[in-house]
Amino acid sequence: MERLEIDAANGIVLNTDEIERMMEEYRAWQPKLKSIAHCVLESEDNVDMRKAYLEKQGADADNFPQLLYGKLHLEAVYSGGNIPYPYDDLLNFGQFSEPTAITAEVLNTESVSDLICFLLCRYLETNLRFHACKFCGKLFGVTKNYKQEYCSRLIPGSEKTCKEMGSVRLYEKKIFSEPAIKEYKRSYKAHNARIRYGLMTREEFDKWAAEAREKRDACVAGKLSLEDFVAWLDSDKQR
Ligand SMILES: [Zn+2]
Repeated sequence: MERLEIDAANGIVLNTDEIERMMEEYRAWQPKLKSIAHCVLESEDNVDMRKAYLEKQGADADNFPQLLYGKLHLEAVYSGGNIPYPYDDLLNFGQFSEPTAITAEVLNTESVSDLICFLLCRYLETNLRFHACKFCGKLFGVTKNYKQEYCSRLIPGSEKTCKEMGSVRLYEKKIFSEPAIKEYKRSYKAHNARIRYGLMTREEFDKWAAEAREKRDACVAGKLSLEDFVAWLDSDKQR
C-alpha cells in the first residue's frame, strides 16, 4: 500500500514511496554524473562536447548512458526559474528581479532521468565546462571565466565562499613571497627585541616602524629598490 503524508503547511499530499523511488534514482545517477563531469565536462580542450560524450559512450555505456528524455514543447514561460511563476517559489523568493516573459522549449516530466538527460544535453550543447574547486574539491559549472578555480559555495561554518577565500589565499601567497615583506619582518623582529634589551624605547621603535612600513610599501610598489631598502633597514645595525 502506498504511504501518503500530508504536508499541512502547503496542503500537498506527498507520496513517500514516490519520493523514495526518486531518491533511489538520484543515487543511481550520482556516480555516473561524477564520471561524466570529470571525463567530459571538465575538459580544457575546445572539443565538441557532444562528440566527446558519444565517444565515451562507445567505450563505457554503463557510465555514459544514452541521453533520452520525454517530449518537448514550446511554451510561454518566465526566464530565471524552472517554474512558471517565480513568486510561487518561496525558497528563492526575493532573489528574482522582475521575471522576463520568454517562449522556450519546455520539458514537462516527473522522471528524474528525463530531467538529468535533458540538462546534460543542454550542457553539452552549450559547451558548459566544469572545474573541480581548488578549495573544497567539489565540481562547479564554469559560466564566464574559463580560468575560474574556485566555486561560489559557502564554506561550512564561515560566511565566506571558496571564491572569496581563494582570493585571500592568493593575496597572502603573493604577500609572503614578496622579498620586501620578508626583509621588513626580519628587521621588525630585531628592532622589537631592542625594546626588551633596553636599547630602544617604545616611542623610538614606533617611529622606526612607521618609517619602515612606508619604505616597505614604496619597495613593494617598485619606487624603492630592494638593495636600498635592505641597506636602510640595516643602517642602524648593532653589534
Ligand atoms: Zn569550493
